[in-house]
Amino acid sequence: MDIRNVVIIGSGCAGHTAALYTARANLKPLVIEGHEPGGQLGLTTLVENFPGFPEGIQGPELIENMRKQASRFGAEYHMGHLVKADLSKRPIELTFGKETIQTRSLIIASGASARWLGLPSEHALIGHGVSSCATCDGFFFSGKEIAVIGGGDSAMEEATFLTRFASKVTLIHRREEFRASKIMLERARANPKVAFLTDTVVDEVLDVSKKEVTALRLRNLKSGESWDFPTSAMFLGIGHVPNAKVFAGQLDSDADGYLVTKNNVMTKVPGVFACGDVQDRRYRQAITAAGSGCMAALEVEKFLGEERH
Ligand code: NAP
Repeated sequence: MDIRNVVIIGSGCAGHTAALYTARANLKPLVIEGHEPGGQLGLTTLVENFPGFPEGIQGPELIENMRKQASRFGAEYHMGHLVKADLSKRPIELTFGKETIQTRSLIIASGASARWLGLPSEHALIGHGVSSCATCDGFFFSGKEIAVIGGGDSAMEEATFLTRFASKVTLIHRREEFRASKIMLERARANPKVAFLTDTVVDEVLDVSKKEVTALRLRNLKSGESWDFPTSAMFLGIGHVPNAKVFAGQLDSDADGYLVTKNNVMTKVPGVFACGDVQDRRYRQAITAAGSGCMAALEVEKFLGEERH
């Protein structure tokens, strides 16, 4: 079996940037694309805050460009999902389905996936009116009323985007203050199709027996009042959970599951680096993910160079 110089787990912004830098260092990186190729940028619409694109750029186009750029320098891409990693072995052993790969170094850029409320009725109706991806599923609710849950940038972005299809979007947030950046909040507020319900939580999604979303059972946290709010869909925009479970017990993570790194990208295992949203609970931007992907790649170069000597 060939021993790889570097394997990169994840094909979002951090993974592609790490691939570009390690490919240009002639390390012939192998990128394992994961369940959600392209990461969060692949599921978003217009990206207006990635420098270099004065008019903005569509997220999927940006990520495709990154992939092409890394491929041009020899990065290899492999469809697959990591099911097991043995970081105690040298070389490191990684298992994808029935396949095992050995590598001298590893860059974990597995990102974060959508968070759900955790209600059984929500789970039962995923794909039947419950979604975490406005760009994937918004179209199915043309002319209908939609609810978006959350108070951060993702929720604002989803609410604004969904007004393209929906007759009305109601943004439901558990507090009165919003975590979203001013510009995103103002944009949603200025949209005549977006209504706001604050201090409100979802207790149940109706109607599981009909296999479709007909209403949300809402509760006002201040008054305690509970009511059924008719809607055709519920889109979640309540943040993300880092994809690091496969490394549990081998790498340190914080209480929310983010991998703990020092000097930005170093894990406690030599030769294993982490970058992007899987280890960044503070910034979580496309540009910071790309930056940390670059740092991880430079650390891999240094690590392999030192190993050789
Ligand atoms: P976020 O900033 O962590 O916001 C999550 C929101 O969901 C918060 O308002 C939170 O409420 C709410 N929430 C969390 N768990 C909940 C639950 N169980 N029930 C009800 N509400 C819940 O996450 P995000 O909006 O996904 O943004 C993540 C990062 O990506 C941010 O740094 C953001 O700036 C960035 N981002 C940027 C853009 C852009 O600039 N174009 C677009 C999207 C995301 P509380 O406020 O009460 O905690």
